[in-house]
Amino acid sequence: MEIKLVKDILEANEVIAAQNRAFFNERGVYVVNLMGSPGAGKTTLLERTIEGLKVRRKIAVIEGDIATSRDAERIAAHAIPAVQINTGGACHLDGNMVRGGLGQLDLDGIDLLVVENVGNLVCPAEFNIGEDAKVMICSVTEGDDKPLKYPLMFQVSSVLLLNKIDLLPHVAFDLDRFRADALKVNPRLVIMPLSCSTGEGLDSWLQWLEESSATQGA
Ligand code: MG
Ligand code: ZN
Repeated sequence: MEIKLVKDILEANEVIAAQNRAFFNERGVYVVNLMGSPGAGKTTLLERTIEGLKVRRKIAVIEGDIATSRDAERIAAHAIPAVQINTGGACHLDGNMVRGGLGQLDLDGIDLLVVENVGNLVCPAEFNIGEDAKVMICSVTEGDDKPLKYPLMFQVSSVLLLNKIDLLPHVAFDLDRFRADALKVNPRLVIMPLSCSTGEGLDSWLQWLEESSATQGA
């Protein structure tokens, strides 16, 4: 029974995600689903991304959080459209929640929408929201064992951003092992080590995002 129920929920979500996808395609909006643990640096990455790319891309953001609008306030301070979705306790965004957020967001002229998912390495990986790409962010302070412990998130992501590499000298984190394990669960994963504090490695990410989003609406 329980397995059947989960299957039904995921199938219903797929229908809505496909509708969202069609909605984005019609408007030429490239959509990134940004996932990662609490504290990995999702919002800070978003702020750096907006600063680095806003001259060349019209960006909007949907912020998913269990409670509070703190992240949306941080993003709105960068003078781009931002909407907060509070999940009311749910630990991930689904297609229906994103559709609800779209009702409050004017996508006119927008060519890149980044959706910051709820901080969680598990179920955000199971729910498509209509995105073009799933991007996950990990930080070296979380430890190098995550690819084997949370394989689904690594499997469904196109890009893995490894944040806080400026802290590598201070933590026990084996970058080679992390990279090898991540590629074991997803051989096509694009891995980019970076630091949102120092800016190291951010150029590669911005270039990837600019090139990928050019495929939509061009
Ligand atoms: Mg955040
Ligand atoms: Zn969840």
